[in-house]
Amino acid sequence: MAYLTDYHIHTTFSDGKAEPEDYIPAARAMGISEIGFSEHLTLTDEEQGWSINPDRLPEYFNRIQSLAVKTHDPVIRIGIEADYLPGKVDEILEYLNKYPFDYVIGSVHYMGTETVDLGREFYTGKDMRRIFSEYFDLVAEAASTGLFDIMAHPDLIRIFGHRFPGNPEHLYRRLARNLKASDVAFEINTNGMNKPLGEFYPDSRFLNIFAEEGVPLCINSDAHMPSRLAQHFDAAYALAAAAGFRETAVFKGRERFMIPIYE
Ligand SMILES: [Zn+2]
Ligand SMILES: [Zn+2]
Repeated sequence: MAYLTDYHIHTTFSDGKAEPEDYIPAARAMGISEIGFSEHLTLTDEEQGWSINPDRLPEYFNRIQSLAVKTHDPVIRIGIEADYLPGKVDEILEYLNKYPFDYVIGSVHYMGTETVDLGREFYTGKDMRRIFSEYFDLVAEAASTGLFDIMAHPDLIRIFGHRFPGNPEHLYRRLARNLKASDVAFEINTNGMNKPLGEFYPDSRFLNIFAEEGVPLCINSDAHMPSRLAQHFDAAYALAAAAGFRETAVFKGRERFMIPIYE
């Protein structure tokens, strides 16, 4: 294994359970070369408990930057996981432009005013064919805004184990093509294993589609505590290689570089 990265990590600045510094020993123990922090930034009208308060962004930035200056194993990157809210693109852009992030992860947790990942209630009485299709379209739309470098958990709509009736392959194909056209990477997010879904995002049956369409890949844990850093990475890297991926994406100063998965 050449160079492992984990770019999707939460700390107490948003809804993580640990301080940024606490992830360093875990990264060393797991043999991770590069980690990146990605707090939630959710610019809804009402403040959300899981999101960093935008007023704390300078403090977040200073804290991670000073950690990066004194830590070289692992290399530290600074990112953010920004919610895609269709009516707030300008406002999101304003915050993203204010700080020199290494990368920005875009997330679709919201469909309208409802969240898809906070409770099963969202799914009650809904037509799965329709919401799956709409969810994938929102991820593609988010990618097309140019706000984001990586799209998080591309089929988060599976979090509670709901399924698209029939074969959803066309949804993955369309999304992969859209991500490629927008030049945005996607992630294998291993945190789905800790959810009722019990699998990675995206559905590994369709990973080959992202490889075929040439969508850049990141493998991330979405850890909210150090014990989950790089969780299930052996399996995720093996799946990626089997699907045809030869490289993963690394980021610095919002520039993307591709590095081989295996030496
Ligand atoms: Zn997320
Ligand atoms: Zn996350």
